Amino acid sequence: MFAEIILPFSLQQTFTYSIQGWEGECGVGKRVIVQFGKRRFYAGLIESIHNSPPSYAIKPIVEVLDDLPIISESNLKFWSWVADYYMCSLGEVMNAALPSSLKLESESTIERGTESEIPWDDLTDHEFVVMEALGIHPRLRVAEVGNITGVKSPMKIVNQLLDRSLVQMQEDLKKVVQPKTERWISLDEALDSRVLIEVLNGLKRAPKQRDILEAYLQLKEDKDSNWVLEKDLLTKGDFSKSNLRPLYEKQIFQFEDQTVDPWREVDLSENLSIDFSESQSKAISEISEGFEQEKVTVLNGVTGSGKTEIYFHFIQEALNRGDSAVYMLPEIALTTQLVIRLKKHFKDRVVLYHSKISEGERLAAWNAISQSKDNPCVVIGARSAIFLPFVKLGLVVVDEEHDSSYKQNDPAPRYNGRDSAIMLARLFKSKILLGSATPSLESVYNAKEGKYQWVNLTQRFGGVELPEMEIVDIQKEYRMKTMVSHFSPKLLEEIRLAKNHGNRVILFQNRRGFAPTLECQTCGHVPECKNCDISLTYHKYTEALHCHYCGYSIPMPKRCKKCGGYDIVLKGFGTEKIEEELKEIEPSLRVKRLDLDTTRRKGDFQNIFDDFSAGEIDVLIGTQMVTKGLDFDKVSLVGVLNADSLLYFPDFRAFERSYQMLSQVAGRAGRRSERGKVLIQTFNPFHSVIQQVIHQDFETLVKEQLYERKNYRYPPYFKLIEITIKHKDSKMVNQASEAFADSLKKFLGDRVLGPEFAMVPRLKGMYHKKILIKFEKSLNYHQVKSQIKQTADFYFNRPPFASARIVFDVDPS
Ligand code: ADP
Ligand code: ZN
Repeated sequence: MFAEIILPFSLQQTFTYSIQGWEGECGVGKRVIVQFGKRRFYAGLIESIHNSPPSYAIKPIVEVLDDLPIISESNLKFWSWVADYYMCSLGEVMNAALPSSLKLESESTIERGTESEIPWDDLTDHEFVVMEALGIHPRLRVAEVGNITGVKSPMKIVNQLLDRSLVQMQEDLKKVVQPKTERWISLDEALDSRVLIEVLNGLKRAPKQRDILEAYLQLKEDKDSNWVLEKDLLTKGDFSKSNLRPLYEKQIFQFEDQTVDPWREVDLSENLSIDFSESQSKAISEISEGFEQEKVTVLNGVTGSGKTEIYFHFIQEALNRGDSAVYMLPEIALTTQLVIRLKKHFKDRVVLYHSKISEGERLAAWNAISQSKDNPCVVIGARSAIFLPFVKLGLVVVDEEHDSSYKQNDPAPRYNGRDSAIMLARLFKSKILLGSATPSLESVYNAKEGKYQWVNLTQRFGGVELPEMEIVDIQKEYRMKTMVSHFSPKLLEEIRLAKNHGNRVILFQNRRGFAPTLECQTCGHVPECKNCDISLTYHKYTEALHCHYCGYSIPMPKRCKKCGGYDIVLKGFGTEKIEEELKEIEPSLRVKRLDLDTTRRKGDFQNIFDDFSAGEIDVLIGTQMVTKGLDFDKVSLVGVLNADSLLYFPDFRAFERSYQMLSQVAGRAGRRSERGKVLIQTFNPFHSVIQQVIHQDFETLVKEQLYERKNYRYPPYFKLIEITIKHKDSKMVNQASEAFADSLKKFLGDRVLGPEFAMVPRLKGMYHKKILIKFEKSLNYHQVKSQIKQTADFYFNRPPFASARIVFDVDPS
């Protein structure tokens, strides 16, 4: 018998090994150790077992690691779909799916674990040697464990030590976060109240210890609990840890170290149950209809309309049926605020899963889900949550479904979390609900075609009005020389007004605004591509303006094509600049910035968030981050510094995104009581998208954009695959990409565009060239993809182009 093993490589889908000697232990979904190459050992996963021998000599499996499968065949089916659809390997999907502690490689290292006492007497000889070695070297590679113990497959030893927390895996230094523990104290079990009095009397000559004991008894009464936190006891009487030691030694106190429960201090008592408003009830019954017809259902509701409450309703329904649910959000919309709301409602059923949790929490989440057959859970997570080992999945909710951060751009699998979630739901026959205030054109289109159920929720809950929106024509202001740096007099006036009323301000400047486009200072004209209807991007490398999509380019112009003016400049300014300027203009304002740079460390985001909520910041300047999920009170003004930087981003989705972002950031104004105000600075006050935002005219936006997309052969009418070819030699990258594109053209014809240099032609020492494939939806894309793959294999697996790298991005965003 043979097993197909998934290994963590991009080379091919599976590798065949013999299961000889492990017939009883092998099973689909279990991890095994196999030898690959001369000396390396890898952990892989059994994908299938069969009895057709391959034509080449094969090695046996070295070891089976799991007693029970860690994932099911349904999960594997989902992996296969991801690999197939996104043109990557199963190994790459496995890498994205498994928590690092389940991925063991010979290059992994181990170090001392969280268990502080080593039970030397209970260790086997091999374990003893390993623990001893770890006393000398802080880290050992797993292969070294093999060397020092003389064991050929050291995984078993490592696993046993891992199980007892004597060691931990250290794969990526950044990822390992030690689970924080804290010490709890109680009286030793043997002490009853009679003995206690004796003990107290016996401590007459040790006043410090007596004080501590009395402090403990006091705390115990205050907290109405035998177990008190050591920390609380120490602060109560200004004791030190060493003061406690004799009390442990005399067996008066006992202690227990527990991982810190981050929710301990949070009041999770349930808020009042809610009665749905009429429009919510109507939405709920329409969603149920969609579910009954087994359709993907879209809930289109403005911010504050009560969507989240509706999600909760359906999550509860799933749990009641005994099914689990997954509630997905873009990473940066996953705020503590929301998690607390969920915890209050679903208590310990809530499982958190996103990139910021520690490895320990990740593994715990994984285990909770794999054991959820009789204990249904609700997972709240980012896109990676789709890879959890679901058993019975009854509902998938994708909130902010339009958000581009659902797409993973690097590394493979370059998947879209929303689209994959739809597939996941299909495989598990679960209900799927997409929610957004500004749904993606893909979803709108699918609803128009009758494929998706569309549900509207138009009113804000409690009838709070949407903010008042106003345009500031900065072209005019510049001409009249009234602009103060990037601020119009109107915006400055409104900021001061807000401050005087004790209100807060959010200023939005998109990071993507850094992308350099050319703009005429006189008429505001931005050069666009003649084929694609998107703005051209300046490339320093070629001193020309290029189209990112089709390869069209023009030399860098000396004057504006529209008005003939010479005053043309490269545009692009970021949040940091704005922060600096505002502080200079109005030193009395307390200004903070919220972007990737100011939120690198854990807790940064929360700190800024808390300061802003507490009124310690007057003006928060931010990128996209300020547009998502934040629910602050007292934000009376939202200012958009330059809407044009969104509009002219070189992307066929630029207008759709602009509308979504501007509407979302506007939604931050006046959330609870008062009506808020939104000021949008732009060079193009009459631009159709700006007008649509101001009038919240989503219908017209959709109509116009769908028309454009159809015309220019873009999604949702056409499918895109972006292929990047990389090589450190620019001549090679040219030759390879030309040859490859030519041969793609043989069967795909003019569906193949490019090759063209990427926006950043040289990255990390590699030249990048892009080929874009646009094809109609009626083509069999399984076939198209496999033809492309075959062609790629032909060119890139042998000389002269074997040293080039090729990357596929299906449905790029
Ligand atoms: P959205 O997710 O659409 O932004 P939420 O569900 O967060 O909207 O609702 C906005 C606010 O209104 C929240 O504070 C929520 O608790 C409250 N809310 C929504 N529906 C109800 C209801 N039926 N009864 C009471 N409060 C509600
Ligand atoms: Zn173009």
